[in-house]
Amino acid sequence: MTIQEIDKNIKETKSLLSSKKKIVIVPHMSPDGDAMGSCCALSLYLQNEGHEVNVITPDSFPTYLAWIPGIDSVSVFIDNRKAAKKKIEAAEVFFFLDHNNESRQGDMQKYVEACDVPKIMIDHHPEPKANVDIMFSRVDVTSTCEMVYEFIVAMTGVEAVTKDIATGIYVGINTDTGGLSYNSSFPQTYRIVASLIEIGIDKPFIHEMIYNTFSEDRLRLMGYCLNTKMKVIPECQAAIISLTKKEMEQFNYKDGDTEGFVNIPHGMQAVSLSILITEKKDKVKLSFRSKGEYPINKLAADYFNGGGHRNAAGGALELPIEEVEQKLIDVLPIFAKEVGIM
Ligand code: MN
Repeated sequence: MTIQEIDKNIKETKSLLSSKKKIVIVPHMSPDGDAMGSCCALSLYLQNEGHEVNVITPDSFPTYLAWIPGIDSVSVFIDNRKAAKKKIEAAEVFFFLDHNNESRQGDMQKYVEACDVPKIMIDHHPEPKANVDIMFSRVDVTSTCEMVYEFIVAMTGVEAVTKDIATGIYVGINTDTGGLSYNSSFPQTYRIVASLIEIGIDKPFIHEMIYNTFSEDRLRLMGYCLNTKMKVIPECQAAIISLTKKEMEQFNYKDGDTEGFVNIPHGMQAVSLSILITEKKDKVKLSFRSKGEYPINKLAADYFNGGGHRNAAGGALELPIEEVEQKLIDVLPIFAKEVGIM
């Protein structure tokens, strides 16, 4: 987006929010640190501006994020559909955060779609397909959280970023970049992080809460994945971990327990592509992470009903997990040749 386009959007949003509004904020399904951090931060900001704000997530959020300031008032659509529908119907403005396609709202989508009120999207994924009135879409940022920071600064000023808001924003910047390791070579990100530190975020505490609050079950599941389940395919520079529902249950699986597992094989120098396959209730989910020029969103889109960023993508198939894994093993060499890895 050009600066002019951003300015125009900010002007329109300002006029839309010039009177007190009932606002509903929606992240994507299976919300991650960026989704929850951005929703909580934006919600606190809009409340401080006098609006009535509800964050409604399509499904539950992982417990390792349950401490983010403002998360207490978040409601989960699938936990109480009736109450959530009421809030959706009463909404006068919607914000869609960290997704650019309404299909990522799950069962909520049709109720949100039915509301003929202004919708605003703030998102950093490529190729937006959302049907919204005001679209903030950029790819030259680490995260939606980074965009929410800039949004608040443009709307009101940096003084509106409280310590609680700054904390949520830092969660998304940190988790969407693996602790500022990948997709984080934008100078502006560090100016924002510097500003968040000036505002007073407790960076070591946030880090501790994100990375060092594993349950014993999760750590043992991680060990099992690496020791027993990981397959390395050196000629494709790839590693695959697949986990059945039964295996996850053996480790008392809770939502979020496999978060970040897909990144671990990248600890091997020989691996530039890592895939985590997990069996869910009615489908098999795939998470893809790659390094460098390996365009993993293409693999996800061409073969696995998915998409995403060049180095981080997702997909899903409604096939038995063994077949999904076999399909991946079959197409990997074809894809690796196609993109010049082999
Ligand atoms: Mn994100």
